[in-house]
Order: sequence, then C-alpha cells, then structure tokens
Amino acid sequence: MQKLKFKQYIDNSNVSRFRFWVQIISFFIFVYGGYFFIEIASRLPIFSCPYVQGSPGGCYLIGVQHELNTSWSSLFSFRGLAILTSLATFLVFFIFLNKAWCGFVCPLGTLQDWITKLRKFLGFSFTRYDEMSFKKLKVIKYMLLVLLILIPLGIRNTFFGIPLPHGMHTPFCQICPARIILPLFTGDTSQIFIDFTDTTTIIMTSLGMMVAAIFLVGSFVKKRFFCFFCPMSALHFIFSKISLLRMTKDGDKCTRCGNCYRVCDVGIREIADDVISKNIVKDDCMLCVKCVEACPEDDCLKISFAGIPLFNATQEGFFKRYSGTSLTEYIKSIEPNKEQEDESK
Ligand code: SF4
Ligand code: SF4
Ligand code: SF4
Repeated sequence: MQKLKFKQYIDNSNVSRFRFWVQIISFFIFVYGGYFFIEIASRLPIFSCPYVQGSPGGCYLIGVQHELNTSWSSLFSFRGLAILTSLATFLVFFIFLNKAWCGFVCPLGTLQDWITKLRKFLGFSFTRYDEMSFKKLKVIKYMLLVLLILIPLGIRNTFFGIPLPHGMHTPFCQICPARIILPLFTGDTSQIFIDFTDTTTIIMTSLGMMVAAIFLVGSFVKKRFFCFFCPMSALHFIFSKISLLRMTKDGDKCTRCGNCYRVCDVGIREIADDVISKNIVKDDCMLCVKCVEACPEDDCLKISFAGIPLFNATQEGFFKRYSGTSLTEYIKSIEPNKEQEDESK
C-alpha cells in the first residue's frame, strides 16, 4: 500500500521541476567540477568538453576522433582494441540513462533550455519545423556522425587516392559550439580565434565560429535547435534499444489528443501519431519526459528502468500539473465528460 502511494506521488509529481534542478547541478559539475577535483571519465555521452578548463571529464566524440586518426593496419592491432574499449566505456555510461543524458545532463542541452527561458522572458515567440523540413533536416546529424568517423581515418589513409589535410584532425570538435561557448562560463575566451596556420585551419576555425554564432541565434528562435543536428544524438540512437531506461507507449490507450507533441521541445510528431511502436524513443528524443507529464491517459506513456516502472502518465497527475493551462482546457473540450465520469465513480 505504501509502495502504491509512493508511486502515485511520483506519477503526480512535477518532473520538469526536478529536471530543472538536475540540469543546474549537472551544468555546474560538467563545467566547474574539475576545479573541485571531480574526475569522472573521458568517454561521456554528453558534451563535457575538455576544452573547458574546469571540465571533470571528456565527451566521447573527441576521444573517438583522436583514436581514428590512424592507419588501417594499426586499426586492426592493439589500437583497434583500445577503440573498442573506449566505446565500451561510453556504453557503460549510456546504458543507464539512454537519451536522458540529453534531457537532464548535457551542458550544451541545458544551455539551449536556458536560452529558451530567456526568449520566453523577453516575450518572443518560437518556430517549429514543418513536417517536410523536419524529415529532411534530421538526416544531418547522421551525416555529421559519418564524417567525424571518416575524416580522421582519411588523414592517415587515403580515400579514392585523396589524402585529407592534418588540419582536420578532430573535425567535429573544430566546429562544435561547445568548444567555443562552454569555456566562456569560466571566463576563458581563448577558443574565440581563427587559426591562420594554413588554409584548412583557417576554414575549420572560421566554420567553428560561424556554428557557435548560429547555435546562439538558432537556440533563441527554436527550442533545442542544435540537438536536432547533434551527432552525439545520432550515436545515442544507434544504441538506444539496449539501454535500461525506456519510454514506452500503449497505443490502445492513446486518444491522439496531441498534448505530448504540443509540449515536445524537439517537435517529435510520432510521439502522438505512432500508436503501433511500443518503444517510443525516437532518434531526436532527449527523454525529457515532458510528454509523459502532459499525457492525460492512465499508463499510456511510461518510463521504466530495467522493467521497473518509474513514472507513468496518469489523468490525476496531468490535471495536477497542468491545472488551468491551455492543455487541460483542450483536453476538457475534447473529452467533456471524462472528469465528471471519474468523479461519479
Ligand atoms: S543532442 Fe543536445 S543534449 Fe544531446 S549531446 Fe547533443 S547537444 Fe547535448
Ligand atoms: S498525450 Fe497521450 S493520449 Fe494524447 S496523443 Fe500523446 S500519447 Fe496519445
Ligand atoms: S518525445 Fe517526449 S521525452 Fe522525447 S523529447 Fe519529446 S517531450 Fe521529451
């Protein structure tokens, strides 16, 4: 009975508020943790950028680019084993939180949420991609992931007889906005520069500056603007199915009211439209669980860990969280008798 009450308390709680605080604490740890002798690991599934002096660890993407900057022959020797070991370290972290690393922990994701809050505070409206653009643009992150693997390999080896210049040694880090923006939080402006060593470094560092500027402007007009193009998100999705943290949907309980889509910062339409898939974590999802909070149907959307239910959509929780907002007004208007029916039971 106590257990049931506790679960009911969780289902009725405001997870977004909890997420807000987890994000603040995580941001502090992943930007300033090193100053407090916190040491986590160097294969993290988030942008804990080693270019930040206070970083307590490193994001997996920088490691894998360095490791792949090698010849084919060494790839199939001990170096290959080292690459597999670092992938395994990344997976050990990732398997616990799945894409919730993005929703709760990544400092670059948090920064985008803070920019959204600033936009709201200033009273500007936001944009969403139409369905066609959404489908076309979402492939960019997979293309970036393939490039960040192939380009380092192409420096020591040649593809089609064309060697790539050494100036592209960590191509994604050179254009990643985390490298330029996150150090600013420690007062370090040293990453704002153009490297005039050669043509390649001029191009790559200029691109990096441009992407950082686009990140700031884009995040102001579009929620989680950069996450949509992030190769880490693409990498997460490849391994998402083996993770212990899951979000599932019972399509039979879904009324397709669309509330989940309305609150989704990324704009994932399938969360409302897909009534077939049980595993409902789509490639752009960041497991922020806002959709579960906004779903008014009992047990329609669920979060579980290793099969243990953690947080379920409930009508009671929905009305507690969204009481008096346009979402509840909308639900009442399409289900006019639902609340009265339940009250009369
Ligand atoms: S998708 Fe967003 S939150 Fe996730 S790793 Fe990339 S920048 Fe961070
Ligand atoms: S909020 Fe729940 S019931 Fe409504 S469309 Fe989404 S999953 Fe279906
Ligand atoms: S689908 Fe749900 S959990 Fe995923 S990003 Fe959208 S609101 Fe968050």
